[in-house]
Amino acid sequence: MDRWRAIGRQRANAVIVSAAILVIALLTICGAVLLDARQDAMQRAQTVSQNLSMVAERDIHRNLEIIDLSLGAMVKGAEDPAIMALPAKERDAVMFDQALSAKYLGAVLILDAAGNILLDAGHMTPRIQNYADREYFKAQKTHPDLGLLISHPVASKLLHDGSMIVAISRRFNHPDGSFGGIALITISINYFRDLFAGLNIGPNGAIALFEHDGTLLMRLPSLNGMATSIRGGVNFNRFISEASGAFLGRSSFDGRKRLFVHTKIDPFGLTLVISPAEEDIYAAWRHRAWIIGGGMVVLALGYLLLAELLAGELRRRSEVEEELRTLSHTDALTTLGNRRFFDEVLEKEWKRARREGTELSVLFVDVDRFKQFNDRYGHERGDDVLRSVALAMKRELKRPADFAARYGGEEFAMVLPQTDRRGAVSLAWRIVEAVQALSIPNDASDHRVVTVSIGCATVDRDASFASAVVLLKAADDALYAAKHHGRNRVEADRDEPASVPTTLSKVAG
Ligand code: GH3
Ligand code: MG
Ligand code: MG
Repeated sequence: MDRWRAIGRQRANAVIVSAAILVIALLTICGAVLLDARQDAMQRAQTVSQNLSMVAERDIHRNLEIIDLSLGAMVKGAEDPAIMALPAKERDAVMFDQALSAKYLGAVLILDAAGNILLDAGHMTPRIQNYADREYFKAQKTHPDLGLLISHPVASKLLHDGSMIVAISRRFNHPDGSFGGIALITISINYFRDLFAGLNIGPNGAIALFEHDGTLLMRLPSLNGMATSIRGGVNFNRFISEASGAFLGRSSFDGRKRLFVHTKIDPFGLTLVISPAEEDIYAAWRHRAWIIGGGMVVLALGYLLLAELLAGELRRRSEVEEELRTLSHTDALTTLGNRRFFDEVLEKEWKRARREGTELSVLFVDVDRFKQFNDRYGHERGDDVLRSVALAMKRELKRPADFAARYGGEEFAMVLPQTDRRGAVSLAWRIVEAVQALSIPNDASDHRVVTVSIGCATVDRDASFASAVVLLKAADDALYAAKHHGRNRVEADRDEPASVPTTLSKVAG
């Protein structure tokens, strides 16, 4: 009987499971798309950084190259006694490139072997200053083959305002090969600052230029006098071991996770690092992910809620269906099966018995003298009796397959599958006795209490019937015989040797 309820539950579960699978699939697709977009954002950041790096690198490279060419001309002039012997104006015109009047250019000098200013571009009378204490001067003096040397950032000696410069120098020799002095061009450190400030590297991005020994020439945002060297930083070795590259890492200055895009500026021994912050790279993506992901989760929850509502509705409907089905099969007064259900069950059992060659018995039960009972005690008491008789009958049915129904009025019928005539008759007698034992007074009856008569018919090896209806008719005929023979008794469609059990003989008597 719970079949419909189970089917309803199955359908409800199917709705929920399929909704859950759909939601999981949608969320998975959404997650994959978002993840893809995240990788795109990183890829884009890398491309942008590489482009910025290229722009900055070209600018620095070009300027250093021009400076180097100028230094080359200065060295050549300083080493040529004929040029040095020219009048100041002509000499300067030969030695000092007019291109070197650029904005960030500081001093353009020839220093003698003692570090004093020998020639000073733009000053007919050289300014007085000594550079013998400068590291680059000492280095050029002691190492003849250094070539172009870019100094660490130092405070300008000529400007006296503490402005920082980078000195770029080349050595020149006396004709005998001994140290003659250096050609020197200084550029303001602001050149790098302004160049970097013009590049958009995001609110938390950083850009740095350092020398091969790790000395920082410039970093934006500036480190406020913190480290002036990145030597010893976790990423330093990677920067100097590769010509260029990109990797995700943590800044040794501020601990931020960054994408480091680095490139060497050869042959000047400089390395440029552009490092947008990971949070900036993903900022736009994160914003979008929150909106899309949040929307998807809300949609998914809504969908699951709808599925649960639908599943609940399915469950309720199947319960109602089950109830209606039960009601349509049930006799309201006695809660036994009704006549329609009885016909269904009989037909089914009839076919099964035929198929399997098993026995099948049918009982027809009728309350004796019930018309008079009603007349005397009233219809309502009559209904009570029918309920009591139904209950007594139900109690006697022990096998699960046995089925009792109210066939109509005060008549009941039973289907007893796999039950032979002897068994059916004996059950019928037990019912007769049980009803009599209820001891419901009925003055109209010969037995003074409510009794029933039962007709029994059986399909077995010896008795066959054309149809279930004929079998039922045989039971009805037997019932008629039972009424005829005095009521409160059992008759079968055929003689049954032990039709009256000894224990019941006095009842039947
Ligand atoms: P007998 O069967 O012994 O020959 O006599 P009887 O008086 O029972 O005869 P019959 O079976 O023909 O009578 C049927 C009566 O049962 C008619 C009616 O008064 C009563 N009856 C039928 N259906 C109901 C019912 O649903 N409720 C009540 N209270 N009485 C019913
Ligand atoms: Mg009747
Ligand atoms: Mg009757």
